[in-house]
This record gives sequence, C-alpha cells and structure tokens, in this order.
Amino acid sequence: LSGLVPVADARRAAVREQAFLGTLAGRPVLGTLLATGALERYKDDAGFHVVDLRSIAVQDLLPAHELGILAEAKALLHWHARHGFCANCGAPTTMVCAGFRRDCAACKAQHFPRTDPVAIMLIARGEHCLLGRQSRFAPGMYSCLAGFIEPGETIEDAVRRETLEESGVHVGEVRYLASQPWPFPASLMIGCRGEALSEEIVLDRDELEDGRWFHRDEVALMLDGAHPDGLRGPVRMAIAHHLIRAWVERGA
Ligand SMILES: [Zn+2]
Repeated sequence: LSGLVPVADARRAAVREQAFLGTLAGRPVLGTLLATGALERYKDDAGFHVVDLRSIAVQDLLPAHELGILAEAKALLHWHARHGFCANCGAPTTMVCAGFRRDCAACKAQHFPRTDPVAIMLIARGEHCLLGRQSRFAPGMYSCLAGFIEPGETIEDAVRRETLEESGVHVGEVRYLASQPWPFPASLMIGCRGEALSEEIVLDRDELEDGRWFHRDEVALMLDGAHPDGLRGPVRMAIAHHLIRAWVERGA
C-alpha cells in the first residue's frame, strides 16, 4: 500500500526511513517509508484517498514530472525496506547520503540502490510486428515482448535472446529508441526496435499464452480501441504503447 499523505499526518505516523529526493518549486521533497499498516487507517476516511502508484499513473492523476518523483520514491523506498541488513556480513545497515546509500558499520561495505534493466522490444518484419500476451494480461491485450537483461549481456543481445527464447523468432538489427523507469519494484525498461530475420513462431508456453504476427493496420485498430474482435494494445502510460505506436505511424 502506498499513497499521498499530508506531511503533518506522515510525521505522526510511524516513519521507518525518509529520503531527500530534491526540491520541487523551491520546496523540499521527501520520500517516506512508513511502518507496515500505518496507512491502513486512511482507507475508510471519506476525506482522504489512498491510491497506489500504478493507479495514479494509469488514471493520469498527476503531471508527468511529479509521476517521475513518485517513481523515484517508490523504487528507492522499496530498496530501503529490504536492505536493513548487510548483504556482505549480515550486520544492520544505516541510511546515509540523504537516502541514496546504506552503510554497514561492521564491515564498512557501502550499498547502493539497485535498478534492474529490462529490454522491451517491438520486433517487426515488413508490414507485420510480433506481439504476445501473458496469461496475467487483461483479456484481449497484446504487447511487446520483454525480459530482464542478464549479467554480462548487451542490450542488443538481450533483445535477440529474449525474442528467440519466448517466440523462436531470430532477430538481426536492433536499435534503441527510448526508456522508462518502471518502479514495480525497480526496473528500467529499455525500449528497442528489432528487425526479425525469421517468421516461424515457436512459443515458450511458460512465458506467453499467445504470440503472433499482426499487420500494421490491425495494430492501428488495437491501439485505437476499434479492433473487431476486441483485441487491444498496452495502456498509454506504458512504453510498450509508444514503441508500438511509433512503428504503426512509421515514425521509427
Ligand atoms: Zn557488513
């Protein structure tokens, strides 16, 4: 549970950790990690709305630059919540550097917030692109393939490996297009375009419920919510939506 809490209320609540995130219009911005259950009492308060970050983003409740600050806070506080002890020696750690590092007094190790890179790619071949769906997706929704980048791997190789593993499609040229922090809990989505070298699809059923080639015209209908079978693309706030739209509109 996370949400926007008035400063006075946050001070009264059980604060576990607090990070200084910078200033906004000359005022300090603090990310506050409250004790478990501290927000529960707001749930039934008629004058107050507790809302999670994903809903804030999907419902467009805040301007983009403030969403970025919330993403920063969420990723950082999630890291603090799980790094109270040193990964090297097991002793307790303390927050330093305004919340951007934790130090271990026992072994002197310094621990830094973690970001997990994820390659997300639109794979195209001529007038068709490859989209897939996971069983957890909303009904009818198809999106770009994606996967975590492994240690020692380039972004381009991750695009080729993940696409081959999940769909059996071989990818040649890969281009980086744009990125998006995805603090669920600490990913950085690295958006790419890849050119397919083969067409035959062999799905990894553990990863994908379905995956197939879609014609550019069909994808346009999906993005506009006008597909005759009710198929659709990812939500506007997701980078996948923009990777797909750029291809549909031939901008990239
Ligand atoms: Zn230590």
